[in-house]
Amino acid sequence: MPVSGSDEKVLPYPMILEEECKGCGRCIQACPKKVLRSSRRVNRRGYIYAEYANSGCTGCAICFYNCPEPYAIEIHKKGKE
Ligand code: SF4
Ligand code: SF4
Repeated sequence: MPVSGSDEKVLPYPMILEEECKGCGRCIQACPKKVLRSSRRVNRRGYIYAEYANSGCTGCAICFYNCPEPYAIEIHKKGKE
């Protein structure tokens, strides 16, 4: 499944599963580091999905807890893959 995220496995990072995202923007608004953004691309369901800017994530998971879609965001942290 296509994903939007970083390949970096040492620093924490959010993985946004593009096809699960409905483009509501809650994660973008909620992220305290402002490292999420609109991709400006449309997924197969017609939503402009969110994406990670590829740096700056602290792994706080606030985006995860603000997302209404159960499978749209995964937070990856070192040792917790
Ligand atoms: S885990 Fe925290 S810092 Fe990282 S993208 Fe989500 S809200 Fe932003
Ligand atoms: S909160 Fe969830 S559904 Fe909304 S834009 Fe972010 S990843 Fe997509």
